[in-house]
Amino acid sequence: MSESIQVLLREHGVQVTAQRLAIMRVVAEHPHATADQLGDAVRARLGAISRQAVYDSLSVLVDKRLIRRIQPAGSAARYENRVDDNHHHLICRECRAMFDVDCATGAVPCLTADDDHGFEIDEAEVIYWGRCPTCRTAASSATSETARTSQPGNKISHPNKSERTTRSNP
Ligand SMILES: [Zn+2]
Ligand SMILES: [Zn+2]
Repeated sequence: MSESIQVLLREHGVQVTAQRLAIMRVVAEHPHATADQLGDAVRARLGAISRQAVYDSLSVLVDKRLIRRIQPAGSAARYENRVDDNHHHLICRECRAMFDVDCATGAVPCLTADDDHGFEIDEAEVIYWGRCPTCRTAASSATSETARTSQPGNKISHPNKSERTTRSNP
């Protein structure tokens, strides 16, 4: 495996270093991990490596398209080695679990923008946000807990409603 990664790096014009090899390996082993999680995994293999060195190696590998970087809104970037397709991601709003979602097999309809503004489009990054099955199960048991303990008729009032109506008058 080490051999094939070295070949891959050279093919992409990346100088082979122990740190870059280790990053490539841990990204393959931990898809969608953050830089800090990858740093921990590299340290377990190589011993000391600075946070900056991890970030530097990742940015070289991302630039050379050996690793894909996903930047979900409001959370740390994740990295993966699945770079050869246009797959998308599902992220849980609560536990931040991330899953791959395939694009339609063969065709990539999401690359056909309604209006491409003359661009040659080569990537569509789609993130589906929602709640994973584990969190949904946890939430529904919590909801039934609340339903059992809350008092009937305890409705939420809307103190701003009348004010808003007044303001909307020209
Ligand atoms: Zn979740
Ligand atoms: Zn992915």
